[in-house]
Amino acid sequence: MFDKILIANRGEIALRVIRACREMGIRSVAVHSTADSDAMHVRMADETICIGPAPGTDSYLSIPAIISACEVSGAQAIHPGYGFLSENARFVQIVEDHDLKFIGPSAEHIRIMGDKITAKDTAKKLGIPVVPGSDGGVPTLEDAKKIGADFGYPVIIKATAGGGGRGMQVAKDEESMEKAFLTARSEAKAAFGNDEVYIEKYLQKPRHIEVQVFGDGQGGGVHLGERDCSLQRRHQKVFEEAPGPSITPEERAHIGGICAKAIGEMGYSGAGTVEFLYEDGEFYFIEMNTRLQVEHPVTEAIFGQDLVREQIRVAAGQKLSFNQEDLVINGHAIEVRINAERLPNFSPCPGKITAFHAPGGLGVRMDSALYDGYSIPPYYDSLIAKLIVHGRDRPEALARLQRALGELIVDGIDTTVPLFHALLQEKDIHTGGYNIHWLEKWLEAGGLD
Ligand code: ADP
Repeated sequence: MFDKILIANRGEIALRVIRACREMGIRSVAVHSTADSDAMHVRMADETICIGPAPGTDSYLSIPAIISACEVSGAQAIHPGYGFLSENARFVQIVEDHDLKFIGPSAEHIRIMGDKITAKDTAKKLGIPVVPGSDGGVPTLEDAKKIGADFGYPVIIKATAGGGGRGMQVAKDEESMEKAFLTARSEAKAAFGNDEVYIEKYLQKPRHIEVQVFGDGQGGGVHLGERDCSLQRRHQKVFEEAPGPSITPEERAHIGGICAKAIGEMGYSGAGTVEFLYEDGEFYFIEMNTRLQVEHPVTEAIFGQDLVREQIRVAAGQKLSFNQEDLVINGHAIEVRINAERLPNFSPCPGKITAFHAPGGLGVRMDSALYDGYSIPPYYDSLIAKLIVHGRDRPEALARLQRALGELIVDGIDTTVPLFHALLQEKDIHTGGYNIHWLEKWLEAGGLD
């Protein structure tokens, strides 16, 4: 096992990794930008190294700075968290070239899944059902129109290099194709430096269902059921739960089994998430994320497993501490993402926290790097806390969520907490009757008024 791990991230996920390290008796090294000298992850780690100025590109994304920090501190492995360098195959290659261990899958697997066309092709070959669509990239408007006519409108145009919900456009008919196609391409170029796009049938009322998988890197794989992340704004998740309210035990075993077998065949190592759209009893693969997800705590809650610990064990060449039969679901868990944003427009709202109190009690977990007097810097993601609740069943988890939100105090800035208070008044949230379009429609209809 490693003696020392460097965490190439910040915020709540850096704390999450530090906590796992401490329980495993591993020393942690926090890296930080000059804007984060007072950040909680810097206060909590065993060692700290400043790696550069505030902008992410000069610090948390600076590969030379992070490799040097490993050499200076003597860390043997790097945990990338999510975002930043977590899905950067070149970074993984450089880490390995320096005889350091990357806590995650191989550069090769990250490369395959990072290109969405190759990912879809690979999934198909491994027996995973995919969304019907173009065979690979679509170079011209004429090709796009032909595909639209073949599959039938509406269709969605997506960036091959996409991520974070960017570079996606829906064309409802042939007339709107030109604008949608050109916009998707220019967005893809601006966001990812690659204007290649592909086209899929646009599903009208799917749920977003994702399967948590773990590979042992030696041909073995298990699944830890699914999460339903259908409540999204601009393709970004805001509320996640496990198990999925619409998924039966048979469907879980079926799709989970397909994913576990596939990652075993790939020789995949560590945590991964296979994302699907689910409509009328069918699963359609959209992408695979080769890292720990923001919403992993809901899975941890219902299986009673520490996924970061397992990531570290696998990276160190140890066995997973569970096999498929050990993984039994207990109850229901929900996570809400609390962002420093001003409603109703969700505009970023960094600033100084004048009072902070985290909720507690039975079945409540708060993953956050906030503290009284902390100043949220304006340079990074607006996620400031994840509130996770666990109950014996879904109604209990929802009641617990309402109770815990009532205890939370975050003064000094605006947050998305009022969104969750409002959502908890909605019947559809209580019945689980929502799909990926529900939240946007509700917001448009004045849900927050
Ligand atoms: P990203 O990597 O940018 O997050 P994804 O491919 O995972 O992109 O898609 C993100 C979200 O976009 C999905 O959760 C879903 O809400 C929507 N979406 C993607 N593909 C389709 C599709 N074929 N039909 C309908 N909605 C889609």
